[in-house]
Amino acid sequence: MRWTSRIAAAALVALLQACATPPARTPPPAVLSEARPPVTILISIDGFRADYLQRGVTPTLTRLAAQGITGPMRPSFPSKTFPNHWTLVTGMVPDRHGIVGNRMEDAGHPGETFTTASDAPYWWNAAQPIWVAAEQAGIRTGTVFWPGANVAWGSRATRPDHGDYAGGARPHDWLQYNQAVNDTQRVDTVLDWLRRPQANRPRFVTLYFDRVDTVGHAHGPNSPEVTRAAAEVDAQIGTLVDGLAALRQPANLVIVSDHGMSETSDTRVIPLGLPKDSYHLIEAGPFAALDPLPGKEALVESTLLKPHPHMACWRKGEIPARFRYGGNPRIAAIFCLAEPRWMIVEKLPDVPYTRGEHGYDNQSSDMAALFIAAGPAFRHGTVPAFDNVDVTPLLRDLLGLPPRTDMDGDDAPFRALLRPS
Ligand code: AMP
Ligand code: ZN
Ligand code: ZN
Repeated sequence: MRWTSRIAAAALVALLQACATPPARTPPPAVLSEARPPVTILISIDGFRADYLQRGVTPTLTRLAAQGITGPMRPSFPSKTFPNHWTLVTGMVPDRHGIVGNRMEDAGHPGETFTTASDAPYWWNAAQPIWVAAEQAGIRTGTVFWPGANVAWGSRATRPDHGDYAGGARPHDWLQYNQAVNDTQRVDTVLDWLRRPQANRPRFVTLYFDRVDTVGHAHGPNSPEVTRAAAEVDAQIGTLVDGLAALRQPANLVIVSDHGMSETSDTRVIPLGLPKDSYHLIEAGPFAALDPLPGKEALVESTLLKPHPHMACWRKGEIPARFRYGGNPRIAAIFCLAEPRWMIVEKLPDVPYTRGEHGYDNQSSDMAALFIAAGPAFRHGTVPAFDNVDVTPLLRDLLGLPPRTDMDGDDAPFRALLRPS
C-alpha cells in the first residue's frame, strides 16, 4: 500500500472504532447506576478583593466564572473576617448574629474578650450555621476550616461561670484551625473525604484559604506578592476541580471571599487624641471601638463626636442605618470609622505595621468581595451587586433545605440562574 492509502485505511479503521466503541470517558451502565449525588463546596479565599480576578493570573476562577455565575458581592459591616464568615453561613448581619468584630466583649461575661481563638459557644449561639441545619436534615457535612466550625454550636454551660458545656452540634468532620496546614493538605483532605463510601461522604463541605489575606496585610493589595498568592490559590482550586473530575463527583462550587483589602501606609494615620485614662479600647485600625471610662463620657464624646478629616465617629445607636450595625449589646459605646486607606491609632507615633487592611465601609470598592458559583445547579450569567447575607439562602437551595424567613437575605439574586433540580 502506498503511504497515502495506508493513512486513508488507518483513518477508516479509527472512524469505525469510534462508531463501534463508546468514547473512553463514558462510564459503563453499572457505574452510571451508582452516579454520585452532587456535593456543595463553599470555598472562602480570605481577603480576595473582587478585582483580583482581572489580574490575569486566575485561570481556574475565570473559567468557573465563565461557566457559572459571578457578580460583585458586598460584605457585611464591619468588613472583618469573623463577622463575615459567620454571615456567609448564617444569612444574618453581624449586628444580629453576634460576631460583631474579630475582637469584642460581652457584659454578660465580664473579664472575657472574644478573639479569633474563642470557641466558647455563647459567643456564637445567636445564629445557626448552615452545617447544623444540614446535619439536622440528615445531610452529612465536613469543614476544612471555617470560623465557628470548631464550636459545639447550641451547647449551654452546665453551670453559670463554669467552663463546661453540654450538647451542641458540629460538622460531622471538622478540623481545629491551624494555619500551618498548607493549602495542598486542605484540598487533599476534601478529596479524601469524597473518596469514602457514599454513606460516610459529606454532601456539604467548606474549604478555607487564608493566604491571600495574610499576604495582603503584609505587602498591600497592589503588590506582586498578592498577585502571586492569588495565582497559587487558583492553582489549588484547579487541583480540587481536577480531583473531583477524576472521582466523577459532580459538585456545586460556591467560591467567595469575606472582604477586600485597602492599601494602608504609615503616612495615613489618625490619632484618637484621647487621654489614656479616659477610655477602654476594644479595637483600633480601620475602625475604633471604645467605651469611655466612668466620669469621662463628656470628654470622650466632645473629643470624638465632631467632624474629623478621614474619620467619622458616632454613639453606637447613631451609626448610619446603611451599616446595619449598632443594636447589638456587644458593640462598644463609641464607634469611629476611618476612610478606606486610613488607619485609626491610639496616638502617634503608633504607626500601622501593615500595608493592607480591611474593616472599612462595606460599600467601598476596596472592600468588594469575590463571588463565583458553578456546577450542575447553575446556568451561566452575571448577577448585579448583592449582599453576602444572600449566600446562606443560596446554599439552602443547593442542599434542598426549605427557606428560612428569619434571615437578613434571600436567594432572589440567583433564582433565575438556578436550574430546576
Ligand atoms: P483578620 O484579622 O480579619 O485579617 O483575620 C484573618 C485571620 O484569621 C487569618 O490570618 C487566619 O489565620 C485567621 N483565621 C481564619 N480562620 C480561623 C479560624 N477558624 N480560627 C482561628 N483563626 C482563624
Ligand atoms: Zn478576612
Ligand atoms: Zn485580614
